[in-house]
Formats: sequence, C-alpha cells, structure tokens
Amino acid sequence: MNAKTTSTFPTAALIGGDWVTSSKTFPVYDPATGDKLADVPDMGAEDACRAIDAASKAFPEWAAKPSKERAQILRRWHELLLSENEALAQLMTAEQGKPLTEARNEVAYGASFVEWFAEEGKRAYGHTIPTTASARRFITIKQPIGVCAAITPWNFPLAMITRKVSSALAAGCTIIVKPSEETPLCALAVAKLAVDAGVPPGVFNVITTLDAAGVGKALTADARVRKLTFTGSTEVGRILYRQSADTIKKLTLELGGNAPLIVFDDADLDRAISGTMASKFRNAGQTCVCANRILVQAGIYDRFVTALKKEVAKLTVAPGRDPKSTVGPLINADAVAKVKSRLADATARGAKIEVGGTPDSHGALFFTPTILTGVKPEMQIASEEIFGPVASIIRFETEADAIRIANDTPYGLAAYLFSRDIGRAWRVAEALESGMVGINEGLFSNEVAPFGGVKQSGLGREGAQEGLEEYLETKFLCLGGITD
Ligand code: ADP
Repeated sequence: MNAKTTSTFPTAALIGGDWVTSSKTFPVYDPATGDKLADVPDMGAEDACRAIDAASKAFPEWAAKPSKERAQILRRWHELLLSENEALAQLMTAEQGKPLTEARNEVAYGASFVEWFAEEGKRAYGHTIPTTASARRFITIKQPIGVCAAITPWNFPLAMITRKVSSALAAGCTIIVKPSEETPLCALAVAKLAVDAGVPPGVFNVITTLDAAGVGKALTADARVRKLTFTGSTEVGRILYRQSADTIKKLTLELGGNAPLIVFDDADLDRAISGTMASKFRNAGQTCVCANRILVQAGIYDRFVTALKKEVAKLTVAPGRDPKSTVGPLINADAVAKVKSRLADATARGAKIEVGGTPDSHGALFFTPTILTGVKPEMQIASEEIFGPVASIIRFETEADAIRIANDTPYGLAAYLFSRDIGRAWRVAEALESGMVGINEGLFSNEVAPFGGVKQSGLGREGAQEGLEEYLETKFLCLGGITD
C-alpha cells in the first residue's frame, strides 16, 4: 500500500489517538527571527496520567501483534517520513534553526531508524539452552517490557524521537513522548505521520508541556511505566535516574559529552580538518557528540590551526532557510550567554581567540564561528560542553598525554582520533573512555551502530541490535517432565 498524507502538521497533543487541545498553551518561536510559529497545549501531570492510561490500554493488543504486522506499520511510517522530507525539514529549520541541508539529512537519518527497527523487530530471538538435566529443557523468549516514556531534546527534534519510538514500537511496547518545549512541533508532525501510517490509538502518545519537571515526575512515579528513555543533560538525567528508583524502571540515558578529538602528528591533515569541521560545526556546535576539546600534537599544531582557519572562513552564518547557510542560530538566549561566558572564562585564563568570538549581525541568537587556541584542560570551556560554534584547541606532546587529557573528564560519549598509524589508532581507540570512537572520521552515527556513552554520559545504547534489546525482557522457560 502506498502511504499517503497531507503536509499540514498538528499543534495539538496526542493522547489515545485523539488530538487534544488545552486552555493553557505556550508559544513556539523561530530562533532565527523570534517570530511565533504556533501555540501548543501546555499539559500537566494529569494529562501525563491520561497518556499512561491510554498507553497501558493499548499495550496488550500491540504487544500481541505478530512482529511482521508491526513491521508493516513501521515501514509505512518510514515511507511517510521520507515522502514528507521537505515539509518536515522546513518545519525543523523554522522551529530549531539548523540549516535546511542539515534538516533534510536529519529527516533521512531519523527515518533510517524506523526502517531498521521495522526489520530488526522481526529478529527478537530467544535461545534454546543445552540442558543440565535429562528431564528438563530450557529456552528463553523475548517480550516487550511494557509502557515506556521518552523525554527528548531540541537539538535533533525529529531523530531523537524516531530513534526511541521505532525501537519501542518494534519491540511491542507502547510509548508516551514528552518533547522539548523548544521543539514540540517536529514531535507532533512525526506523531501525525505515525498515525497516518496506521499506528493504533494509544500506542504512541505525545504530551507537550512547559512543566517538564511536573510531567517528568508523573511519568517516573507511575509504576505502569516500565522504562524511561531520556536524551538530554547529565544534570536532568541524574534527576530522572533518582526519580525512577522507587519503581525500579529500566533506563536508557543519553546524556552530555565532552568529546575529545585528537589529531596526531602522523594524521592526514585534510582528513583531520574535514573531520573536525563536520564534528564541530554541525548544528552550530549543538550536539552531544560535537568535538568539545580538539587536542593537536605539537608537530602538526601550526599547520592544523592555519588550515582550520581557512575552512572556518568558508562557513556562512545565516538563517537556516537561506540555502547558503551552514551555521544557523543557537537555540535560545541562554545558549548564547553560555557560549559567551565560557569564552570569557577561557580568555581571562590566557586562551586566545584566533577567529570569531563575537555575536553575529544576523540576529540575537547568531554567533560567529570561533577558533580558540591556548586552551588548558582546567578551563571551563574544556571541562563542560560548549554547545556552540567554538573550536577549542589544546596542544599536546605525546600519545600518553593525549590519552590522559582525553580521559580526564566524567563524561564518555564520543571521541575522535586522526592518525595514519594503524597500531596507534587501535591502541588509542581502546584506551579512550568513551562509548564511540571515530577513527579518521568526524561523523559516525547511523541506525545500524550502537549509540551511547560510558561514565556519566549515560546508560544503554540506541540504534543497532542493542537498541531493540533495550525494550525487551528476557523470559526463561524451564520445561520439566520430559522423561517418564
Ligand atoms: P538541554 O539543556 O539540552 O535543553 P535538558 O536536559 O534541560 O537539556 O532538556 C532535555 C529534555 O529534558 C527536555 O525535553 C526538557 O524539557 C526535559 N527536562 C528538563 N528538566 C526536566 C526535569 N526536571 N524532569 C523531566 N524532564 C526535564
């Protein structure tokens, strides 16, 4: 069947298959212009409970569906996401600010998870286990964990939802999503396409709210919610981890990072530069896998900085809808203030702004791409996520120094290294305390690979076979009385 839909996207929340409005609403703004795009319902804890009711009611039937039938619905959803790519990308750029090319890529990336999990859901295999006693046989089966809740961020307003929802749905779970208050429109658009694709009422619910803490409490306190999946800051992750303790929820947490990107003397300079540009400046530096500390070895340092300056000069700061834009606005005034204060701290402690370092004339939320040298590990800019278009460069001497500096952080999400020496690349990749390592690559996230962090960057993995497993329980069946 050919999936069909219209390009008009909703501004109401979705509970139990109904588009629900509320007397209380909150506005959504375009960060490039400050214009209001829409008002969406400002829902509360009671609405979250209604969504849990709906998800609980829908669970038995969805869980009992053969995985092949769930896969057919997910495949239609995938098709709709792709056929609506342009409309979704325009909406994303308006709501979140990223350049249109990046928004189009995010739609394709977000849709790829739906396709992957449509396929992978059919492979939720259990095991047969060789017995320890002649009268007994052992097998395991995989079952969906139950009702899930997802709390998602604004930086990938579509992909962070499809990555979570498609894995949950493929496993046979139902879900309630609370999107970021900055980007609820993408979440609602994605949900509408899921409904159009045939996802039954109550299987996928969306609660929009300004009261993230109140709704977060309602979702974590309810014992019917068996799993919480969260992408956002480590600070909020800790709160949700604590709140989930009482009901012993299963958790997937994708939290903050402080990614090192290490360039060794033996690196291919062009590759290192293109990898750094891709990792650092995508989404105006607002991703949890952005290179936060660029560690460059003394022998290549000067050449690297000169070449990076040349590339940064080619970036075009402009509203995302401008086809020439490669760096859009930051998400809000707090984000701009954070970048400014980190730069001020770094320069006060001796770092040097080589390029940029100032707000950009396109509007209040635009910031010029910046290169900062002479960065020391103890500066705030090297110990916390920058979340802005600032390339922060640290010089190092030896491989051991690089590993020590790279690992000297409570975070461990992404890391990158550039070297032509295969022994070194392998050695350093093993030594880095992170969930993912890009070796001579600045971009690596995709649907077939496990995404996630170690240390205080989180728990669990999304995407890949591991991503499905997160929504499944293993049940052991022991069959006795085989012999007379
Ligand atoms: P960021 O700083 O990138 O916005 P946050 O961790 O603050 O990251 O936000 C990520 C998501 O967590 C958003 O959907 C936000 O509304 C939500 N959130 C923020 N605070 C809480 C909280 N106390 N409880 C539940 N969700 C929260």
